[in-house]
Amino acid sequence: MLELKGITKIFGDIIAIQDLNLTIQDGEFFILLGPTGAGKTTTLRVTVGLEKPENGKVYFQGEDISNLPPAVRNFAFMFESHNLYPVLNVYDNLAFPLRSPMNRLPEKEIQERINKVAHDLHITHLLKRKVSALSGGEQQRVALGRTLVRKPNIYILDEPISSLDYKLREELQTEFKRIHEEYGITIFSATHDNISAMAMATRIGIIHEGKILQIGDPREIYTNPLSMTVANIIGAPSMSFLPCRIKKENQLVLNFPEETPLSVGLERLKKIKSVIKNEEEIFYAGVWPEDIQIEKEIETTGFIGAEVDTVEYHGAEKFVNISYHDIHVKALISPGMSYRHKDRILFSLPSEKIYFFEPKQGKNIDKLLTQEA
Ligand code: ATP
Repeated sequence: MLELKGITKIFGDIIAIQDLNLTIQDGEFFILLGPTGAGKTTTLRVTVGLEKPENGKVYFQGEDISNLPPAVRNFAFMFESHNLYPVLNVYDNLAFPLRSPMNRLPEKEIQERINKVAHDLHITHLLKRKVSALSGGEQQRVALGRTLVRKPNIYILDEPISSLDYKLREELQTEFKRIHEEYGITIFSATHDNISAMAMATRIGIIHEGKILQIGDPREIYTNPLSMTVANIIGAPSMSFLPCRIKKENQLVLNFPEETPLSVGLERLKKIKSVIKNEEEIFYAGVWPEDIQIEKEIETTGFIGAEVDTVEYHGAEKFVNISYHDIHVKALISPGMSYRHKDRILFSLPSEKIYFFEPKQGKNIDKLLTQEA
């Protein structure tokens, strides 16, 4: 078990990470997910021992390793820029960590390990090639191989696949997942790529401005985002946020020029009102694209008439961007539906699929109440 407790790391006047707490169990594939500058690399570097934090401690299997140098921690670290040796061939690059003066292995064992890893990563045919003669994707596999030939306590991977093109990324995603399961290893990784994080991680930690905002398995975070920031970081494509307010007569309405009532039930309205105390105060209704209902022609009550902005494809899925006054809504539509720019479209938000966020910090109102309870 790896534990980071109360870690704060400051560079000059930048607080890179602040009072960060994290526990990673043996065998997990844990991914820190956050935008650029969120503090991901710093967290990994503190874990490995390449940065000394101003505050906080790192524990491995219960032992305080905060003052141990990186080599003694025995964590294999794969950087974004993978630092391969371009003049050496692939075999010698893979052998490099196994020939270090501190942990030199017999050549026979080195060969066995390299053969196994090369086979698993489909790079056996590249072993004799110089690294400088490899494509970006092949180099990435070699870098991963050089990490896997070691038997470290934990594999720490910083943006291991984000610089690759879509196809290779997908291939390596599958590879990583398979290797994680087959080797039974612990992986602590970081990325800004929500799709690969959702695909690979057993648990995700959402990091933003140096703070962990939420930890959970990918589905749990997706279905229960604690805030608008979390929803924005995890979502692909993004959640739509629509302004709403409570009207004096105890009704919840979308705050458009022509008010559209949202029926959420008395109980939920009561809960919302315990957070949104000020009637007429604007807060937000958030909906994932797949939860928005679409009608094409028939005017049905509860549906809002709007205009199609653009249609976009994400793989086999088709999304429509809808404009309604100043609001932009993204909805998943069935492949058979065809829309063009400026077409009329009707959409509605099923109340049980709506997340409500308070206006000050964008926190999920339902979750606020559960936490307070
Ligand atoms: P990216 O996805 O772009 O790699 P990140 O989430 O890994 O970003 P970090 O590299 O950890 O973010 O950086 C967190 C913050 O700390 C940023 O504001 C960054 O500019 C700053 N920072 C990181 N390392 C240093 C350093 N050595 N000196 C000064 N500031 C630094």
